[in-house]
Amino acid sequence: MTSTDRSYAELHLHLGGAVLPRILYTYLQRRKQDRSDPEQHSLATTYLRRYPTFEKFERRLTRPCDTLEKYLEAHKVTEPLQSQASMAYFINRLLRGAFAFENISYLELRYNPYFRIPRGLPLNESRDHMAGIVQTVAIAAQAAFQQFPIVFTQILCMDTRLPKATNGAIVELATEMPKEVCAVDIAGPDEAYRENLPDIVENLALAKEKGLKVTGHCFETPDSCFPEVLDYLDRIGHGIQIPLRMPKLLTQVAKRKQCLEVCPTTYFRTGTIRSYSELKPVFQHCFDMGIDIAICTDNSAFHNVRLPLEFERLLTSGVLDFTQMERCRQAAFRHAFRWPGTIDERRSVL
Ligand SMILES: [Zn+2]
Repeated sequence: MTSTDRSYAELHLHLGGAVLPRILYTYLQRRKQDRSDPEQHSLATTYLRRYPTFEKFERRLTRPCDTLEKYLEAHKVTEPLQSQASMAYFINRLLRGAFAFENISYLELRYNPYFRIPRGLPLNESRDHMAGIVQTVAIAAQAAFQQFPIVFTQILCMDTRLPKATNGAIVELATEMPKEVCAVDIAGPDEAYRENLPDIVENLALAKEKGLKVTGHCFETPDSCFPEVLDYLDRIGHGIQIPLRMPKLLTQVAKRKQCLEVCPTTYFRTGTIRSYSELKPVFQHCFDMGIDIAICTDNSAFHNVRLPLEFERLLTSGVLDFTQMERCRQAAFRHAFRWPGTIDERRSVL
C-alpha cells in the first residue's frame, strides 16, 4: 500500500544531522541565559565560546569534506547537544520542519543512543540511560503528532567504532522496545568497519535472530564494500557501490528484495561522486534488475537539502524522469518498516 497524497516517506535520516544549525544555535543561546539547569548552562557556555557567532557554528556543520570520515566528524559536534534534557525540544522542531517544508507523512529517524548518554558508565547503567532516551524521543514524537501528523518510528544505530558488547546492548534494547523502535542499523567510519567486521556480522546476525528489521550502511564508498553483511539486511543503507563496482551482487539483492536507501547529496559531501551523471548507472542497473530505490536525505540539516529537493535535483540533472521519480517515492512507502498504509485525514486539503 502506498500513499495517494504525494507525500514522502523518509527512511534514512540521522538525528545528528537532522536538526538545523539555526535551531541548535538558538537552543544554545537560550540555555546560556537560563541558569536553572547548570549542566545545560555549562554546555551552552562552552559551545558558544567555541562558536561565538552563528555563522561560525553553521560553517563547522556544513563545511565541505572529501572523505566519509571527515564528514562524520560533524556528528561529534551535534550529538552531545542531543541529550535527554534537550531531546523533546529538538524532536518537536524536527517534526515541525518535516511537516511544514517537506510534506513528509512517514519518518524513520535513526541515531545511536549510546552517543547521547553520559560516558564511562557500566554497561547495565548505560542501557537504562539509553532506554530513557528512546522513551523520550517516542513521547516527544507522539506529542508532536497532534500538530504534525507524521507517522514516526525509531531506528537504533550500532557504530563500527563501539565494542561488540555495547552494540549488542543496542540490539537488546531494540528488542525490548518494539513499540518505539522498528529496526537497527550499523553506521560509522569504514576503517573501523573493516577492523571489526566479524563482531559487526555477529551483532547483525543476533538482530535477525531476535526478529528485528535490519538496515545497514555499506557499499557507500569504494572502501565500504562488505558483501559479508548483505545477507542480514532488509534494506541497504546507500549500497551505490554494488551497481557501480560489484554488479554481480545485484542478482542476490534482487532475490532478497532489498531496497537501496540512496542519499545523493551525501555522496558529493564525502567526495564519493563528483557529478550527478555518476549516479545514473546506479538507478539504471537497479531498475533493470527490478531493485527498488528509496531516495533519502541522510543528514539534511548539514546539506540544507530537504527531501523534495533531492528528488528535484535528480530530475533536473537527468538521472530520473517523472515516472522513475514516482517509482522511487512509492518504493519508500513499500519498504518502510512501520508504514500503516493510510494517510492521516488531517492531511486532506481544507
Ligand atoms: Zn547514513
